[in-house]
Order: sequence, then structure tokens, then C-alpha cells
Amino acid sequence: MIGATRKWIVWQLSLGEFSCRSDVVRYALWMSLKIAAFAYGLNLAAHFALYASGLLPYDLFDALVIATLLTPPVSFIVSIAAYLVVGFAIFDLAVSRVELERLSRTDMLSGLLNRRAFLDAYERHSAGVSLVLFDIDRFKSINDARGHTAGDDVIVSVARSLLAAFPEPFTCARIGGEEFAVQCGGDVPGLFERTEAARKAIASQLVETGQGTVRVSVSAGIANYSSGRDFAAVFAEADRALYRAKTDGRNRTVTYAQIESPRVARMGGDTACG
Ligand code: GH3
Ligand code: MG
Ligand code: MG
Repeated sequence: MIGATRKWIVWQLSLGEFSCRSDVVRYALWMSLKIAAFAYGLNLAAHFALYASGLLPYDLFDALVIATLLTPPVSFIVSIAAYLVVGFAIFDLAVSRVELERLSRTDMLSGLLNRRAFLDAYERHSAGVSLVLFDIDRFKSINDARGHTAGDDVIVSVARSLLAAFPEPFTCARIGGEEFAVQCGGDVPGLFERTEAARKAIASQLVETGQGTVRVSVSAGIANYSSGRDFAAVFAEADRALYRAKTDGRNRTVTYAQIESPRVARMGGDTACG
């Protein structure tokens, strides 16, 4: 009983049955009707038991009339009041909990998922993911030249571009200062081309900041898909590819497979793609 109640409360706290306030009212009404019927039944049974044992101090008919007139409405009013108060409190708690949970998984500046939420998403892909890391090129110089707020505007703009380039079922996150990550379950055909398209779109646009417009670019590293590896191993591959993209001149995409097979021409970059 205690276990079931506890389970029910936890279920409600995760917004189980209550998706809106009217659910609380519906539930309170239904429970209160059941309680009123139960209380009425108990009252009648008690009266019959007292009557049968000769202990009823007044007429049975009068007792049943009073019980019928009083017990159902009184027990209904008491229980619906209690259910509404507790139900609304649980609903409000559940709403704040869901909101807190959302905030704890969101990067406040960009609105993308944060690193923790990104890791959780990785754990959910039991069949492995394809991973892309993006890093804004020479971002520090934007901060130095235009100020931190302008840098923030650039981060927001890049985040928007990545979201547009990688819609569902991709998962986009800001995993560090000016670093972003994108993952998708399984092998993704055309991932390199999609990444290149995102990179080129970012490089071609002017970002409006409070301190004038700036042009930015990103470098990208892709970890090739393979299942059954932990996040650190996949991340390390993408990071190595990203590092190569940086050392090769930035504003380009490199895949880990290209590092592993150096004779495959690395594509992308202003020079490579024109
Ligand atoms: P690279 O091309 O090699 O990536 O050079 P970079 O300048 O982008 O990289 P570096 O790591 O030298 O500088 C990153 C800068 O990002 C340093 C840090 O002050 C800045 N930064 C980190 N988080 C934020 C943020 O939330 N907002 C702003 N405006 N700047 C940030
Ligand atoms: Mg960086
Ligand atoms: Mg950078």
C-alpha cells in the first residue's frame, strides 16, 4: 500500500496522469465520488450492525435517512477539497520539476542542449552514433576586437545555423565556449556533405552584433560511425579530425577516416572547395 502510494506520487511528480489542471479536477471528482460511495456504504453497514445487535439508540429508518442525506455530500466535499489541494500542489511541483529539468539540460546562451544532455542522448543510441564537432575559428579575436557580448551574438548565430542544417533526428548541442556537437544515431549517408553545407552557410553569412557585423567561420571534425564504443572514444576521433581541420588552415571539414587514410584527399575549406 505504502509502496503503491509512493509510486503513484512519483508518477504524478513526473506529470504522469496530470497533463493539465483539468486532469486534476477530473481525478479529484472521480476519487471523491468513490470515497463518498465507500463512506455511505460503511455508514449503512454500521447502522445495520448496530441495529442487529440491538445497540442502535434510535429508529433504523430515521438513521438511514440521516445517513443518506449527510454522509455522501459531507464525505464528497471533504475529499474533493483535499484532493484538489493536494492534486494542484503535486501538479505545480511537477511543472516546476519538468521546467528545472529542461533548464538543467539547456545551454542558456544558445538555447541548444548542453554537454550533459548531449551525453544522455548519446547513451540512448544503443546502436552507436555519427558525431560532428564544430569549433568557431579565431573566436578569441572576435571577443578581443568587438567585446564579449558581440562574441555571444556570434555563438547564438552559429547555433541557429547548426539547428537549421541539422534538424531532427540530429541532436545539436553547445558543449563548450565556442564548441558545438551534432550527433545522429547510426550511419548517416551524406553527413560530410551536410556538414560542409553547414560550414559554408556559416562562412557566407554576416552576423549582426551590437558592435557591427562580423563574418565567422567554423572548422568541423567528423567521427565515423561504428557501434559499441563509449562516448570518449567517439569524441576523441572527432576531436582529432577537428584538430586536423584547424591545423590545415581552419574553415574546413575533416573526417577521422581521412586522417586514417591520408591519401584520401581532404575536402572542404576555402581553398579546397573554392
Ligand atoms: P581556434 O580557431 O583555434 O579555435 O581559436 P579560438 O580563438 O576560437 O580559440 P581559443 O580557445 O583560443 O578561444 C576561445 C575563446 O572563447 C576564449 C574564451 O574567452 C571565449 N569564450 C568561451 N566561452 C565564451 C562565451 O560564452 N561567450 C563569449 N563571448 N566568449 C566565450
Ligand atoms: Mg575551442
Ligand atoms: Mg575556436
